[in-house]
Amino acid sequence: MSDPPSKDDVDHCRRCELWERATQGVAGEGSSKARLMLVGEQPGDEEDREGRPFVGPAGRLLREIVEEAGIAMRSVYLTNAVKHFFFEPRGKRRIHKTPLQRHVAACHAWLEAELARVHPAVIVTLGATALAAVHGRKITITDGPFTETKEIVGGYALMEMKSKEEALDYGRKFMDLHLQHWPEFEGECEIRPVEDQQPVAMQTRNVEGADTGT
Ligand code: SF4
Repeated sequence: MSDPPSKDDVDHCRRCELWERATQGVAGEGSSKARLMLVGEQPGDEEDREGRPFVGPAGRLLREIVEEAGIAMRSVYLTNAVKHFFFEPRGKRRIHKTPLQRHVAACHAWLEAELARVHPAVIVTLGATALAAVHGRKITITDGPFTETKEIVGGYALMEMKSKEEALDYGRKFMDLHLQHWPEFEGECEIRPVEDQQPVAMQTRNVEGADTGT
């Protein structure tokens, strides 16, 4: 069986218009024998400049987490649902835009080829676009009244950390990522031990990015 699509393959793709403004195509990376495949949405600013997937701030953090979980990166195949960067220029910055369904549909042949050639035992999709791309269909999210009433929207992750310091370090990276990709972000990260459910640390950042304590 042949290798997964190469950088050259996706670089020369003209199935949709995203190649026109992107620096280059970003093909998947990893062994064709990988048992785990991680599928993201699309290359970000750094990935677009470097031509490699998962090398921006979020990707680096994810690589770190995968390795700390004891999974060797050589056994992981990294790719995106869409292979060219979709963005909106704003001054000198390039602001990420969520790919449209027609971009995901146009790019689906590359993802299918990767799935067929790598044939991973486990596929982890990172976000709704990647999930929809892997399943080959659109996922609809219905807005509730919470968008009007401005209630708090949150989520949680359960992670095993060796110490409070390590948990705080991850918390800071997590908040920094939000500010890098969403400069006007305002939110909180609360860290709790699982056993007694008491908060052990609170880290907040305001619009200016000031750290208001732990
Ligand atoms: S985003 Fe996908 S379909 Fe569109 S040009 Fe790039 S590789 Fe081709």
